[in-house]
Amino acid sequence: MAWDFETDPEFQSKLDWAAEFVRTEVEPLDLLYPNPYDRTDSEAMALMRPLKEKVKEQGLWACHLGPELGGPGYGQMKLALLNEVLGTSIWAPSVFGCQAPDSGNAEILAHYGTQAQKDEYLAPLLAGEIGSCYVMTEPTGGSDPTLFRTRAVRDGDHWVINGEKWFNSNAQFAAFHIVMVVTNPEVSPYQGMSMFIVPAGTPGLEIVKNFHVRGFSEHEGHLRFTDVRVPADHLLGEEGQGFLVAQTRLGGGRVHHAMRTVALVRKAFDMMCERAVSRQMRKGPLGGLQMTQERIADSWIEMEQFRLLVLRTAWRIDKEQDYLKVRKDIAAIKVAMPKVMHDIAQRALHLHGAIGVSDDLPFVDMMNYAEVMGLADGPTEVHKITLAKEVLKTYAPADPVYPSGYRPALREQARALVAERLEHIVGNL
Ligand SMILES: Cc1cc2nc3c(=O)[nH]c(=O)nc-3n(C[C@H](O)[C@H](O)[C@H](O)COP(=O)(O)OP(=O)(O)OC[C@H]3O[C@@H](n4cnc5c(N)ncnc54)[C@H](O)[C@@H]3O)c2cc1C
Repeated sequence: MAWDFETDPEFQSKLDWAAEFVRTEVEPLDLLYPNPYDRTDSEAMALMRPLKEKVKEQGLWACHLGPELGGPGYGQMKLALLNEVLGTSIWAPSVFGCQAPDSGNAEILAHYGTQAQKDEYLAPLLAGEIGSCYVMTEPTGGSDPTLFRTRAVRDGDHWVINGEKWFNSNAQFAAFHIVMVVTNPEVSPYQGMSMFIVPAGTPGLEIVKNFHVRGFSEHEGHLRFTDVRVPADHLLGEEGQGFLVAQTRLGGGRVHHAMRTVALVRKAFDMMCERAVSRQMRKGPLGGLQMTQERIADSWIEMEQFRLLVLRTAWRIDKEQDYLKVRKDIAAIKVAMPKVMHDIAQRALHLHGAIGVSDDLPFVDMMNYAEVMGLADGPTEVHKITLAKEVLKTYAPADPVYPSGYRPALREQARALVAERLEHIVGNL
């Protein structure tokens, strides 16, 4: 019997250390330096360096990676518990070496990169010396990869890339971009796309604009590629493997977002409960009113359901060691995440009255964060389709008119079974 909902005491003491450290040493940075990805902010970078050292001394740096890549190899389950601490802070993931989009990019470099690519890009990325960007979405097609048009054409020992991409997080401060492009338009996009490493500053690569999205620290870049030449050895994985590499990356990214969202949901819930026991109404505290109690009960149930689903998904990834085998679970948490975040943040906002809608409290940002979680890494609709298809795969077709629960037929079968047994009993008398 291996069911267990307890954290082992050794790791719990690390979580306790992390909670205190984030609260006292990291969260103050959130309020004063809005963008942990901005490496040009020398003051903020200088403040971050000793904090990273403390995390490394505790053995909590890049928790999701194995020892061969400089992490402790704790796996996704322990990362989920740690992200429940880090997810409330903008800076904490960077201080602990597990920030998006770098964590997902590191994962695919480790998985598909050549030794030379690992030495040049993965090693400094893992050491936190450089940042990276993942470049997939296009202005004319995001959710549907069959609409991607950015094209790479082979020219001698180089590839030449032309096209446009947008909403690429942290493009502005990235040292390199991992870019998904069409290399063979004659075959299905699932076989005709490839992934390239494009160093920042490569001639022809232009950042047209940086979008700011409310509730997010990093900016999202709009990139234009005009005859961008990259050496053939900058292909990441095999030619035509782009979709496969993307699936590996996005699987992890979605789960890590869900883990951090558990932390934000908890923060909104805690603030709602604090308000309920603090604000006085005519007949006592706000929490004494039944409609407030209903909001709190609903929120607690939704939060705990979501958290348990995220933890079980993390546990299944550790067990299967293959994101594809956990597709259904990942799609389910991706769908649940924006709804739980939105509903609990909205209730918390509402119970705070006027100050709840102001920028002095975090609820409006949280609600927009929920909207982004319903879009980034694929919209909710696409994940509902994946989830339903995965579920339906496990069912065999039955009679199309009389379902297998059709009682008259079941009764007939039961009668036949009972008659046979009775005959046996009578025969033995
Ligand atoms: C803050 C933020 C950060 C991001 N970071 C990155 C990044 O780092 N790299 C990157 O490449 N991209 C990134 N994205 C882009 C993100 O992945 C896309 O926005 C997402 O895939 C949706 O694509 P789209 O915006 O083109 O919407 P569209 O594809 O135009 O979809 C619009 C709407 O159409 C509906 N829809 C779409 N498909 C279906 C369907 N099959 N069935 C029913 N309805 C459907 C949905 O309601 C959907 O919301 C980021 C986006 C945001 C907001």
